[in-house]
Amino acid sequence: MQETKFEKLHLSRKVQKALDTMGFEELTPIQEQAIPLVLGGSDIIGQAQTGTGKTAAFGIPLIELVDAKVKQTEALVLCPTRELAVQVASELRKLARYRKDIIIIPVYGGQSIRPQIASLKKGVHIVVGTPGRMIDHMRRRTIKLGTVTKVVLDEADEMLDMGFLEDIETILDGTAANRQTLLFSATMPESIRRLAGRYQKDPSHVKVVGEELTVSEVEQSYIEARPGKKLNLLRKIVDNYKFSSSLVFCNTKRCVDDVARDLKALGYDTESIHGDMTQGQRERVMANFKRGRSTILVATDVAARGIDVSCIEAVINYDIPRDDQYYVHRIGRTARMGKTGYAFTIILPTEMGKLRDIKNYAKTEIKRHPPLSPEDEFTITAKPVTRRRVTYGRSRRR
Ligand code: ADP
Ligand code: MG
Repeated sequence: MQETKFEKLHLSRKVQKALDTMGFEELTPIQEQAIPLVLGGSDIIGQAQTGTGKTAAFGIPLIELVDAKVKQTEALVLCPTRELAVQVASELRKLARYRKDIIIIPVYGGQSIRPQIASLKKGVHIVVGTPGRMIDHMRRRTIKLGTVTKVVLDEADEMLDMGFLEDIETILDGTAANRQTLLFSATMPESIRRLAGRYQKDPSHVKVVGEELTVSEVEQSYIEARPGKKLNLLRKIVDNYKFSSSLVFCNTKRCVDDVARDLKALGYDTESIHGDMTQGQRERVMANFKRGRSTILVATDVAARGIDVSCIEAVINYDIPRDDQYYVHRIGRTARMGKTGYAFTIILPTEMGKLRDIKNYAKTEIKRHPPLSPEDEFTITAKPVTRRRVTYGRSRRR
């Protein structure tokens, strides 16, 4: 491996110091490719799976490029959800922690608009917002986009999936014509290419999708469940491994509600998150999960996308993902930044073909998991992974 230290970029002293504080030493591949291009003023399309450090890939150059002396909005980052806007703004603030002269605020719905208006009035250099709330501010004329010369579309494919195309176009049309536009997307469907074609100038395509799409530090396995026995199997996985934090994926909100309710009733510290919840609910759930107050988070793909909880030990696909790409996104939630993780996929006998497709797409090995225990019995037969207790008093109730 060649030298990919941040020092090689010759960043400003203050940004380099922030990176040292954050413990960032080596550049991730997307950062290595994107940062010099963005610093040089190019438009880019950055394609990389989640957890590859895209935020710093655009955040570092944004902070270097912003002219803090001018009190006006120069950069705008659009994110699909409130959680992501908050998370991205917080990462940017960390990167700019020794640049107190740069003002960064998140702007999203579900939070009172008045303090946002007050902050915007005082002058903000980098706004991180959701498309809906940005449109709101444009209509109220509480944000001026004419001075925005750098726009980042983060998780662009997700924003389009959520129906934000028109809002994004309205926002982009309101920014400076000579702007630099950075588009980040895990996938490259036709709709993204069209958006790029219309709003970017000769973008460089920076792609980090290697031979192996999933992180190799993730031990991936599948376990077969008989129809109607998925919850049972989920409990066996959870009881056997005793992860201190795991993320369980369902394909629908309905399933998220059902699984979370059942696990809670069985005494597991479980929370759930999906798109229908209010902002307050989602924030509380994420905070509890990050602090370790809940050990199991049940989520839909959209709700969990991009959420960065660095300590997730296991991803459990309660439902096999509908889309091959979702598998890669889900698995990307664990084993972040060099840690090891586990990924389990529960499949029904009819879903073997689907599993094969996923393996081919992700170019990865998904091993058959050894049987956890005889059907319906809560004894452990698999190799112990962590300290385990063999008492299952709470699980007996059925
Ligand atoms: P993405 O947007 O690609 O999903 P993030 O930007 O959220 O990824 O980064 C994932 C995690 O990796 C974050 O916790 C971030 O702080 C960390 N990270 C990013 N770049 C580096 C780096 N060069 N070295 C160490 N950790 C990093
Ligand atoms: Mg991201």
